[in-house]
Amino acid sequence: MNFLEEKILKEGRILSNDLLKVDSFLNHQIDTRLMREIADELRSRFHCTTVTKILTIEASGIAIAVMLGSILDVPVVFAKKSESVNSTDEKYVSYAYSFTRLKTFQINVSRPYLSSSDKVLIVDDFLARGEAALALTDIVAQAGAEVAGIGIAIEKGQQEGGRRLRSAGFRVESIAIIEEMDAESQTVKFRN
Ligand code: 5GP
Repeated sequence: MNFLEEKILKEGRILSNDLLKVDSFLNHQIDTRLMREIADELRSRFHCTTVTKILTIEASGIAIAVMLGSILDVPVVFAKKSESVNSTDEKYVSYAYSFTRLKTFQINVSRPYLSSSDKVLIVDDFLARGEAALALTDIVAQAGAEVAGIGIAIEKGQQEGGRRLRSAGFRVESIAIIEEMDAESQTVKFRN
């Protein structure tokens, strides 16, 4: 069992068979040492890959992305979920359905921050149905850039996101992959 799986077992709360609450270390309070360990692990998994930029989505992906960006010494861009009144830049825009919020949201990245010469490592905290990650790959494609890979902290393998992304040809590395979890018994089974 790796460090993240141990942390999930210790502090995670299973709200339903598809929803894991990890507010104590990732989604509300942030365990900075753990973020560093996640970033180190992603760095080692993608060590042969050229990366010029990291792309994530607000909010919780940012902590991991910044740690990794600092280690790799590359900029981090995060997709925004709302239009900002103080931005006049042209945007790349895509859409993702959130099953945790039960609505489709628009995400956008200002065009100056991604260009066709970029090799982009996409990073996020969770992978569930793959909607957020696919919307990010769409934004990379709009920029004419290349997806170098997708690095995820917690993949819920019982949902289809991993399959969708891998079958689309993307390299996905997830540090903890949940095979199944049960809200009643509060048990989690990880994929080996
Ligand atoms: P997807 O787009 O892959 O369906 O879902 C990924 C996004 O939804 C992540 O960015 C994450 O914020 C949120 N998410 C999905 N499943 C969970 C979950 O079980 N727990 C938490 N805390 N967030 C989740």
